[in-house]
Amino acid sequence: MASFVQGAYILAALLFILALAGLSKHETARRGNQFGMAGMALALVATLLLVLDFLGTDYIDQGPVVVGLVIILVAGTVGAVIGIRLARRVEMTGMPELIAMMHSFVGLAAVLVGYNTYIEDAALGVASDAVHNAEVFIGVFIGAVTFTGSVVANLKLSAKMKSSPLVLPRRHQLNLAVLVSSAVLLVWFMLADGWGGMAPLVVMTVLALALGFHLVAAIGGGDMPVVVSMLNSYSGWAAAAAGFMLGNDLLIITGALVGSSGAILSYIMCKAMNRSFVSVIAGGFGSDGTVSGEARDYGEHREIQAADVAEMLAGASSVVITPGYGMAVAQAQYPVAEMTKRLREKGVDVRFGIHPVAGRLPGHMNVLLAEAKVPYDIVLEMDEINDDLPDVDVVLVIGANDTVNPAAMEEPGSPIAGMPVLEVWNARDVIVFKRSMATGYAGVQNPLFFKDNAQMLFGDAKDKVNEIVAALG
Ligand code: NDP
Repeated sequence: MASFVQGAYILAALLFILALAGLSKHETARRGNQFGMAGMALALVATLLLVLDFLGTDYIDQGPVVVGLVIILVAGTVGAVIGIRLARRVEMTGMPELIAMMHSFVGLAAVLVGYNTYIEDAALGVASDAVHNAEVFIGVFIGAVTFTGSVVANLKLSAKMKSSPLVLPRRHQLNLAVLVSSAVLLVWFMLADGWGGMAPLVVMTVLALALGFHLVAAIGGGDMPVVVSMLNSYSGWAAAAAGFMLGNDLLIITGALVGSSGAILSYIMCKAMNRSFVSVIAGGFGSDGTVSGEARDYGEHREIQAADVAEMLAGASSVVITPGYGMAVAQAQYPVAEMTKRLREKGVDVRFGIHPVAGRLPGHMNVLLAEAKVPYDIVLEMDEINDDLPDVDVVLVIGANDTVNPAAMEEPGSPIAGMPVLEVWNARDVIVFKRSMATGYAGVQNPLFFKDNAQMLFGDAKDKVNEIVAALG
């Protein structure tokens, strides 16, 4: 049985690698997901077989094995029911906060596995092993940081906690002090025998929980995408650490895959947002906590009606649409796809410009547009479209705000300063679809709305695009 389980684990690991490869392109993403699901199903069955293998073994007390099996089955069933319900209910816009919550569970699991391993060894009087102790300690540390960090990310993404950064005095020194103290506690824990390690373990856990909270609380709204992918990476390393503690090879491999792919995604996001990778890990990067722009007087904005926008579009030869989070909230992707179709039938060149952090998930806009069957070849990345914008007649900014905010380039003190944006103001005309003059996720006012070539089309994006589609005939 053990060799069968090992074989199944290797196959599952291969399926996870294929899943990651598939997820790297639109066209193969669905297949990638299927590989991932198959790998996870195989891993679950193999792990269950491993437990079943203990049943009927003479030298192992059967009582705890049966209890363990019942707990696995009950917990698995309850978890599956909750998971299916959540997956069915969650809106696309609620995905990031759900993912952050999932990351927090991985972190918590690593903490619990660490404590369980330690308590079991201490209770059974297992001789202290410094390397094993280090695994437990580091696993609990990463898990605790991931847990509170992800809880804060969940609260910020669901707007239950304000997205502006928490700026404590000497915050970087505080983080460093926690790291140094944890290193000292690690040495104490590695050298301790029996229950002697409990004190450093508990103190480190409290410090790590505080560190996770602080690292994410100190980050401003506009920089949250990098934090989400970074926590994704941390959750992978937490799972790998749990794999070391449990001696489970598949968990180590899977955790390392998630950890490293999350780290690569964080790196890509950092580059896209012009942030330093090292300062992300240190927390509270890119902003000194000041929020500028809100109090400035940018002048008056102008309004336009849907019928006038339809007329402007019908007379244009090139149109670029830059969607953002508001398109997802309004579920406007279907009328947007219909409007695109009608305009293209009239001979208008329509393209989409996608900012790497538009929406609330990496690839959020691409997923929505693919769902509405917008052809892939007219959906371009920010870098591919920015240089063409001066030759474009009309840009439609549909529910985007931070990703088209010139303050990122023009106001050095802004929390989004330095972040590359879609330079939509370079087009002849810009129409901004939103419901009010409210700021975007980063809480920064947008000078675009007050530019001479920009006009606001107020209302729900779906309703307004539908009105334009009707007017286009
Ligand atoms: P923003 O969040 O900056 O702005 C969205 C705009 O949509 C708002 O100004 C809002 O204005 C408008 N809106 C909301 N609902 C509707 C509606 N029903 N109809 C019309 N408009 C609507 O969006 P962006 O996509 O430009 O930027 C994404 C932001 O999210 C960035 O700051 C990014 O850093 C952050 N983020 C991104 C993540 C990612 O991975 N992509 C993850 C976490 C955060 P109004 O209320 O006036 O309608």
